[in-house]
Amino acid sequence: MTKFITTSIFHILLISTVSIFCHALVFASETIPINNAEPVTPQKLEEQTAIIRKHHLKRLDDKLTNDLKVIDENCKYESDISTRPPENHVVLTFDDGPEPIQTEYILDILKRHHISATFFMIGEKVKQYPDLVAKVYAENHQVVANHSWSHPNFHDISTNQQFEQILKSETFFSNNSQPKLFRYPYGNSSCETNRLVHSRGYKIVGWHIDSCDWAFDKSGAIDFKEAVSCGVLPQYHNDYVAHVVSAVRARKGGIILMHEIHPNTIKKLEEIIIQILADGFIFGTILDDDFIPSMR
Ligand SMILES: [Zn+2]
Repeated sequence: MTKFITTSIFHILLISTVSIFCHALVFASETIPINNAEPVTPQKLEEQTAIIRKHHLKRLDDKLTNDLKVIDENCKYESDISTRPPENHVVLTFDDGPEPIQTEYILDILKRHHISATFFMIGEKVKQYPDLVAKVYAENHQVVANHSWSHPNFHDISTNQQFEQILKSETFFSNNSQPKLFRYPYGNSSCETNRLVHSRGYKIVGWHIDSCDWAFDKSGAIDFKEAVSCGVLPQYHNDYVAHVVSAVRARKGGIILMHEIHPNTIKKLEEIIIQILADGFIFGTILDDDFIPSMR
């Protein structure tokens, strides 16, 4: 009996230590190899955030300085959803993974709250981390979707290169969901590629709510111009959670854009889920009937 108790205490201590260790790693964005993978280092995260910032602000400038009719005619931002989301339904979408540590951390939170989410993955990472992709499927997340091969800005590459990004990525997705789903990197689209993805049975998925997880810095604040580009109201410029939750309330639900790679999403996801659930919202997936009109 004493041996049993001693062993149990040892196991509890071991599990606690491992758990604390993993949390510390996630929050510090430190490096640790898992299955020979290369996780996001602080430098890599900084670089990726800078790239998102650049393309996001370019998009804002484009919309502020150009004729919206011309932008529409050129199919530049197909990801903008003009339709209202189904009332009181929320879909969580996580882009730019899979990532060692972060993906598993998110999966654990979703499992605790019995929520299925949609993961828009990057083809070259799907190829690199097949075990992580299998785990996402195994945990009943309805959709693992195409988010291009290497995440370029489609406005900066040729039509043929855009096609390659989708077709090369497609061969690494074994998802049989119908319709197939595609999300443009940075939401930047073109008429030619819209036609291609539709001809291949895809729906294009945008978002109703941009969490702007990448833009809230370490101090918890967001830059004014970035806030405008993401639709963050002034009263929430220092509060990522309040921004997301208030946007969900204002729209009465919708598709939320988050990124697997960003510490704000990793740190605050559970708090956001708890607050949204407390408001009586129901979490669903993109393929639920009532979200179909949100796709094109
Ligand atoms: Zn992305």
